[in-house]
Amino acid sequence: AISMAGSRFAYVRNFELPDPLLPETYMVLRIDGHAFHRLSADHDFAKPNDERALQLMDHAARDVMNEFKDIVLAFGESDEYSFLFRKSTALYNRREAKILSTITSLFTSSYVFNWPKYLPNTPLKYCPSFDGRIILYPSPTIVRDYFSWRQADTHINNLYNTVFWALVLQGGQTTTEAHATLRSTVSSTKHEILFSQYGINYNDLPARYRKGSVLVRTEVNGEADANATDAQSLESPSPIPPTATEVSQGSKKKKERIRTIVELLHCDIIGDDFWNARQNLLAD
Ligand code: ATP
Ligand code: ATP
Ligand code: MG
Ligand code: MG
Ligand code: MG
Ligand code: MG
Repeated sequence: AISMAGSRFAYVRNFELPDPLLPETYMVLRIDGHAFHRLSADHDFAKPNDERALQLMDHAARDVMNEFKDIVLAFGESDEYSFLFRKSTALYNRREAKILSTITSLFTSSYVFNWPKYLPNTPLKYCPSFDGRIILYPSPTIVRDYFSWRQADTHINNLYNTVFWALVLQGGQTTTEAHATLRSTVSSTKHEILFSQYGINYNDLPARYRKGSVLVRTEVNGEADANATDAQSLESPSPIPPTATEVSQGSKKKKERIRTIVELLHCDIIGDDFWNARQNLLAD
């Protein structure tokens, strides 16, 4: 009787429509913190850049990349992170909602889970959340333009915010006055205000603030050795131990296996050098 009832109800499953992402296109997944202007104020983030909060974002992004090996590159700034999948990924049969919800929720839970490591004296007052979207790009050129767009945005925002907070915190202006001072100023004027009034040479600011964070998956040479987890932990606050499968494969056959590490960089990704040195990112 129960199975008959089960089959009588099972038709509702047909209302769950397939949501496949177009094959052979580049998938970029971007998450962005919900109302982080308020969250950063409520938790006393340093202005314009709280380095601890940026490191926490990097940590959550690294956790995502350690779990999902088809992500080859990620770029982070402020409260957002973009993840690039290899073109031919078959993750969850390319089901959009499955991929988007799983990764957005993993990022969010890692952000919350690791918060106390980065802001030990600032208890969370409420639950942070992130929105997420997946964008498909049909060509390598557009993928590069996407990442250039995000890194250019990092620069524009950081220059503006650095002058803005210098005017407020050192210049004694109100936030309204500082906005007015900066209204319709060009880039060179902002550099000039920073240098002449506050002695700040913009180019001397930390690269993390000027360039954002680049997490890139890099293949490393060497046989699959169950003990060789050291390279994996490079720059990583939480090295991922080999899985049971990896350990048994390693000990049984020592079979050829491509090992990768995830490197954290704060470099230019608008020019050609970064991509020329890593042709694999946009291949396959
Ligand atoms: P939305 O929900 O629409 O995304 P939002 O308030 O999150 O709204 P964003 O445009 O995403 O707006 O901007 C994020 C804001 O979070 C920044 O403007 C900045 O005020 C703050 N913020 C994020 N990370 C940091 C950080 N590391 N240090 C200081 N402030 C930060
Ligand atoms: P998927 O990632 O595809 O959802 P899954 O392993 O989560 O895979 P589900 O079909 O969602 O598979 O089933 C969830 C499983 O989690 C259950 O079959 C059960 O084994 C376990 N589970 C969930 N909640 C409980 C609970 N409260 N007590 C015991 N087991 C639970
Ligand atoms: Mg937003
Ligand atoms: Mg936001
Ligand atoms: Mg944002
Ligand atoms: Mg489940």
